[in-house]
Amino acid sequence: MTEEKPLLVIMMGPPGAGKGTQAVRLAKQFDLPHISTGDLFRKNLKEGTPLGLQVKGILDAGDLVPDDIVVDMLFDRIAQKDCHKGFLLDGFPRTIPQAEVLSSKTDGKFNVVVLDLRVADSEIVKRITGRLMCKECGNIQHKSYSPPAKEGLCDACGGELYQRSDDTEEVVKNRLDAYHKQTTPLIGYYDKQSILYSVQGESAPEEVFQNLCNKLETAKI
Ligand SMILES: [Zn+2]
Repeated sequence: MTEEKPLLVIMMGPPGAGKGTQAVRLAKQFDLPHISTGDLFRKNLKEGTPLGLQVKGILDAGDLVPDDIVVDMLFDRIAQKDCHKGFLLDGFPRTIPQAEVLSSKTDGKFNVVVLDLRVADSEIVKRITGRLMCKECGNIQHKSYSPPAKEGLCDACGGELYQRSDDTEEVVKNRLDAYHKQTTPLIGYYDKQSILYSVQGESAPEEVFQNLCNKLETAKI
């Protein structure tokens, strides 16, 4: 490589793998804007932008937001000045067509690195179905990993702990199946381009973060 290009980091990983938290930390560490499509949706909806209003109509009708709107929203954002020095994508692309559009828009301008956070389905099921939320303060505990000192009560405030109704094995497995179905081809797509880096995501969050940093440092060169 003759000159150093800005980094475009794409974070991939199944729901429940801790990808969001790691993405935020990693973006901070490498001084890159963290761009999450979920956040962009919420921001556009909240500010009532033309795109936001369009999305609201679609969601209110119970439909899925089509690709071209997701892409418009994203490209609006990455055209902003702070992204010229590089950026980190969290939640996009999810499909090969989305990846192709992204590539046509950014081609040649960035050093693209795809980080794939790997956590076994069985571990994700265990993490999510064991979650306990506090009704009072929003604290999150876990049946096995951070069991409450007093059964059913929050360690932080003594409030009542509960399980979210969609934190069941069936719901989590369905979500994971959908994820694998959608992203397995995408992982192959990036692997073929030799820009895919897998990181084991089952260890402690701090260790996972260090591994992600190391991979990214290696990939930059
Ligand atoms: Zn609490």
